[in-house]
Amino acid sequence: MPRPSQMAAEIDLAADVLVLGGGPAGAWAALAAAEAGARVVLADKGRVGTSGASAAANTAVIAAPDAATRAVVMERRLARGFGLVQAETVERVLDEAHGRLLDLGAWGYAFARDDAGAIYRGTLRGPDYLQLLRRRLHKAGVRILDHSPALALIGDRAGAAGAWGVARAGGARWRVRAGAVVIATGGCAFRSKALGTHGLTGDGLLMAAELGATLSGMEFSGQYGISHVAATVTKNLIYGWASFTDATGRRLEGEDPFEILARHLPEGPVYAMIDRASPAIREGLRRGQPNIFLPLDRLGIDPFTERFPVTLRYEGTVRGVGGLSIDPRGATGVPGLFAAGDAASRESLVGATSGGGGPNATWAIASGCWAGAAAAAFAAGTDARPDGGPVAEMPLLDDAGLAEGLRLVQDELFPVERNFIRDGAAMRGARQRLGEGWRRLRRAGRAPAAGLDAARLLRGRELAAITATARWINAAALARTESRGIHRRRDCAATDPAQARSLSVSGLDHPVATKSEAVR
Ligand SMILES: Cc1cc2nc3c(=O)[nH]c(=O)nc-3n(C[C@H](O)[C@H](O)[C@H](O)COP(=O)(O)OP(=O)(O)OC[C@H]3O[C@@H](n4cnc5c(N)ncnc54)[C@H](O)[C@@H]3O)c2cc1C
Repeated sequence: MPRPSQMAAEIDLAADVLVLGGGPAGAWAALAAAEAGARVVLADKGRVGTSGASAAANTAVIAAPDAATRAVVMERRLARGFGLVQAETVERVLDEAHGRLLDLGAWGYAFARDDAGAIYRGTLRGPDYLQLLRRRLHKAGVRILDHSPALALIGDRAGAAGAWGVARAGGARWRVRAGAVVIATGGCAFRSKALGTHGLTGDGLLMAAELGATLSGMEFSGQYGISHVAATVTKNLIYGWASFTDATGRRLEGEDPFEILARHLPEGPVYAMIDRASPAIREGLRRGQPNIFLPLDRLGIDPFTERFPVTLRYEGTVRGVGGLSIDPRGATGVPGLFAAGDAASRESLVGATSGGGGPNATWAIASGCWAGAAAAAFAAGTDARPDGGPVAEMPLLDDAGLAEGLRLVQDELFPVERNFIRDGAAMRGARQRLGEGWRRLRRAGRAPAAGLDAARLLRGRELAAITATARWINAAALARTESRGIHRRRDCAATDPAQARSLSVSGLDHPVATKSEAVR
């Protein structure tokens, strides 16, 4: 494989800071870097403003404008973190996000108002939010490369010095040489068809790991969203007022909708009806979260009076926890390489629970700002950057090979009986099969230096990232020999107080999990 820096690039740019990914984390990172005086380029796989998990959804964020609300949030986060949350991280996230939510208002974002007419900053309408950020990026002079997935970082273990990628339309190769790089490519939902997650294939995790970065919180990824079987919207809110039944109409008992579904889906279809919501709650749900109802309305279903078939759609690290380990400035440990948002581990903010429902969106704002500012400072303080290319494998597979590789990973991660509730023996089998999938990618033909088929190259890299991410999840889940939060093990059902600490995973051909002294 020729090194990216040796490959001719039709688009060749230089920047102080290169941001990969233009969801909220990448947009905030780019804005913070530009605020600090850096020349910034931002490249996204899709179109900045409409791609990523937030752009497709309404997201709750944690707004803690006063001391009383803040105290409640702190208490709740610490209570729900299963011993892994760090109070200092929560405080820093709340501080940073509070100021940035005020900025959004000052820039013209129309926050909702409560019944008393007061501004309510606790939800963000995805499309409006991301379009506003796009306008701010233009205003700040950030150069945006839409539909331009990054495929590999430029640099080596001595540091990151830019990235190399392709333009989806026309297939032009681009290269951006930069003083520092921010990975904000989101989480990985393994192509489960959950809305907004199609392009979230763990690319940034793979690129960073190729330069030696480590990950943490990967075992806290047993995360699924509930949706109609024929729909992709995985908003879970309404199911708190649902009754669940099986094909015969028998009522399925239980407190937690996810556990009810995980227990009964392997036996056959499960149906939901939102029959426990009062008229006022129904009205509030429809008004506050119209996107939940869109697919049901299209299918002609009244969810309050009719039962409809539901499934659990895997969300992996998008609403889960795991990602690149970072320090409080967003630095990965590889010089010049920073990470933010779902691409970074949220363990110190959410512990072993899902980051959905507020924490992840708030983290995207705060961690984006930290990483952008730190990347700008790093770039300003360095002259010479490494010129080498990474040891990036660019596997080229045909359609059948790509489909087979993806199915192999999905078969290990999607079934609730394998991944919602895990088991040591089954995971050891999965380790072997996923390892074989990885080795097949390693053996696949390599992309030539010229005449590249950009789409095929991207799909090969995405499959490599998906496979690597599944292997890190597997390695971490095997090493955590207990149940804690959304890491549930049938063979180790109890929570072990001695394991109330973080696990790091690293490595590509031989992923290894190691216990950290400190939670990061
Ligand atoms: C249905 C749903 C509902 C949610 N609701 C909430 C909620 O209410 N509250 C909450 O806190 N969180 C919620 N979340 C999670 C929240 O959406 C994410 O935490 C948030 O979007 C993370 O922002 P991000 O910028 O890190 O990633 P994303 O918004 O996913 O953006 C990542 C970007 O990186 C780009 N990218 C990927 N690969 C590459 C590449 N190789 N090169 C260049 N660009 C690339 C993608 O195109 C994408 O634009 C929800 C998630 C889902 C799926």
